[in-house]
Amino acid sequence: MPVDVESRLVDLRGRLVREYEERTKGSRSLYERARRVLPGGVTYQIRFLKPYPPYIERAEGTRVWDVDGNVYVDYWMGHGTHLLGHAPSFLLSRVFELASNGTHLGYENPLAVEYAEMLARVVPNVDLLRFANSGTEANMYAARLVRAYTGRNYIVKIEGGWHGGYDSLHVGVHPPFEEPESLGLPQDFTRYTITVPYNDVNALEDAFKRYNPAALFIEPVLGAGGCIGPEPGYLREVRRLTYEYDVLLVFDEVITGFRLALGGGQEYFNVDADLVVLGKAVAGGFPGAGAFGGRADVMEYLDHVKRPDPRRRSFHGGTFSGNTVSIAAGYTFISYLKENRWLYDKANNAWLTARRTLDEICGEHDGICWTTGEGTMTGIHFTRSRPRNVREAHELRWSRLMEEVANLYMRLNGILYISDHQVHLLPALTYSNEEIKKFTESFENLLNLVKG
Ligand code: PLP
Repeated sequence: MPVDVESRLVDLRGRLVREYEERTKGSRSLYERARRVLPGGVTYQIRFLKPYPPYIERAEGTRVWDVDGNVYVDYWMGHGTHLLGHAPSFLLSRVFELASNGTHLGYENPLAVEYAEMLARVVPNVDLLRFANSGTEANMYAARLVRAYTGRNYIVKIEGGWHGGYDSLHVGVHPPFEEPESLGLPQDFTRYTITVPYNDVNALEDAFKRYNPAALFIEPVLGAGGCIGPEPGYLREVRRLTYEYDVLLVFDEVITGFRLALGGGQEYFNVDADLVVLGKAVAGGFPGAGAFGGRADVMEYLDHVKRPDPRRRSFHGGTFSGNTVSIAAGYTFISYLKENRWLYDKANNAWLTARRTLDEICGEHDGICWTTGEGTMTGIHFTRSRPRNVREAHELRWSRLMEEVANLYMRLNGILYISDHQVHLLPALTYSNEEIKKFTESFENLLNLVKG
């Protein structure tokens, strides 16, 4: 990075931090209290924004309000959960009505059956499914299931792919990909997990040949890795190779599910998976968001009637799985999407146009940034060229400061997203053109400031 840009970014950050501190005194004092009871002052490390996060007390539609009364257009949407914006009133009232008969019955219940039937209709290739309580948990049970079904230990996943914090999948998420992702993760727990770069068919084939894995876990579009989509034909090649080497293809559709299309990445890219993992929107913005499902012959390894001996089946369970609140919310939410499919074309087209506009702006500013993404999922990378995977996004980055300055600048201009070390937006399907325009214009103003 040229020295003058670096020093301009340092100055800009100082100025923006002072302005932020001026406007967010309530958040600052909450942060100081939070530091005393929550490690790092936050409920989840990803939610920390420098110098301290805004503490949000209200959300509605596309907006969130912090404790100091600042209002932001939200492009994070509850970690990509709220496809219809925050707190849709039809959803709240229906969930309240159904939950008033009991929030969690702890028995089998008709609504869970009805929801499972609906999901099996709208998500391609789902013959059977089970509910879980989070994306992490659904991936964990899916990982056990693929090992149970194939009798093999190895799992291949994508570098930078995020499937939650379960040991076997919490591997190769952040560079350097070879190193453990966390303390407390003994190598013995992760030695059967192999990572390969996204958009690299040769590396995938090599891993299949070498390890004879049970499954490939892959997000159709990398989410936490920076909203990076597949190159033309990549997912079809992935499917071909998984057939050729007899490897189960698991699509982690925790973000892409119900987002790219009602049927998720499978429908959007017209590629079939053997198993699908769902999360986030599957519980309609309420907690307890997880499910996994797929081919009957695989899912039957969970079936205690067909496989009465527990040692001959794969375990799945959980106190809150199939609870009324998650099921009622998910059912109501997905029904709405099903009846309003037009939302997808409108939102996907609006964000395709936004990415093109942002690309033009980046081009006019000496190519200091590049967009990636599919549908509404949008990444902006401050790299020397357009990254094809997370390794490239990391290696081609020209500044460590730019993302932080970008987040602060946008925050002060009424635009909020996570994180301040990468720009990856997980928008709802419901923004007005003016809101999207405000995003692109603010971004252009930021680049003008940086250019000087
Ligand atoms: N899989 C993907 C693709 C995700 O993006 C996430 C979370 O962001 C997870 C799994 C983990 O889900 P959860 O945070 O609900 O455990």
